[in-house]
Amino acid sequence: MSFQTHYCLYEIILLDEFMIIGRILENEKRVKFNVDIHCSNCGIIVPGGLQTGESYFETDEFKIELKEFKRNYLCGVCRDKRRVDK
Ligand SMILES: [Zn+2]
Repeated sequence: MSFQTHYCLYEIILLDEFMIIGRILENEKRVKFNVDIHCSNCGIIVPGGLQTGESYFETDEFKIELKEFKRNYLCGVCRDKRRVDK
């Protein structure tokens, strides 16, 4: 398994100010929760409103993904910078 295909799990979509993590099935109830997210580049704390599907929430897979998400997270400023650098 390449890192690249694994990484696309962390695609973020802005919706109702709650970012989607993991997967939400069609017509599934969503669980919304807040976590402290630190930008992995500049360290700024981003108020993190996240949402995921009810069946995915609190699964082992979810916990791993949340950990990876927090480890790789970039704030908007750093994300823009990275895009320009490339
Ligand atoms: Zn940053």
